[in-house]
Amino acid sequence: MRTQIVAGNWKMNKTFEEADDLINDIVDFVKNHNLENTAVIICPPSVYLELATDFANETNLHVGAQNLSNYESGAYTGEISAPMLESMEVGYCIIGHSERRKYFNETNEMIAEKVNMALKYNISPIFCCGELLPEREKGNHFDIVKKQLEESVFHLNKTDFGNIIIAYEPVWAIGTGVTATSDQAQEMHYYIRSLIKEKYDEETGESTTILYGGSCNSKNAKELFANPDVDGGLIGGASLKSDEFIKIIQSIDD
Ligand code: PEP
Repeated sequence: MRTQIVAGNWKMNKTFEEADDLINDIVDFVKNHNLENTAVIICPPSVYLELATDFANETNLHVGAQNLSNYESGAYTGEISAPMLESMEVGYCIIGHSERRKYFNETNEMIAEKVNMALKYNISPIFCCGELLPEREKGNHFDIVKKQLEESVFHLNKTDFGNIIIAYEPVWAIGTGVTATSDQAQEMHYYIRSLIKEKYDEETGESTTILYGGSCNSKNAKELFANPDVDGGLIGGASLKSDEFIKIIQSIDD
């Protein structure tokens, strides 16, 4: 059985005290519940990563960053490198999020460099892909996602690809309150899995965790996660309130 994952992307939210409270609530939950086949990952802003890894240390809560530099070290003011994250025991990193593509001009090529950098330092990329609304309206969504995979992760060998988590996030669903239907999510996840099988092999396709992201909340999570090719979610807005995030975790682990 594939690992099911619920990952929270906090984006640029929370003061230190608020972050402390939220992490505490999630740690309390994971400590007191036996989550059999579900991994919970939180991705707070980088200034709170140490707080998160300190708390997560004695639990099965995992910590991820929201971004890393495509450079290893040096004169890149404001950047955070993969070796820094590794040295803080951060095991995951969101890479290729649509907000970084849109506001920070990240290209598929740059995202491939970030993926390589993460893997070099034992960080599992949570690789985001997904189409814009006009691309879906034109019926190009499969081609767009295929190109993103081909240009950013399909250069990897099978062993490295085994450390990748895919997050399908249709851009029109992110932060909009418009969720992909269960059928739309399943159809794309099935397609992504077929591409992985074609590129690598059946076993790699079957074992890759593919998350759905885009206005996923405690009301729609159960239906989305019930699809055979949807292995959990990357949760933005709904990961900022502990009760809501915990309900989402429970909906996968039922
Ligand atoms: C995200 O930003 O990864 C995301 C899925 O956001 P939201 O859940 O708020 O749509």
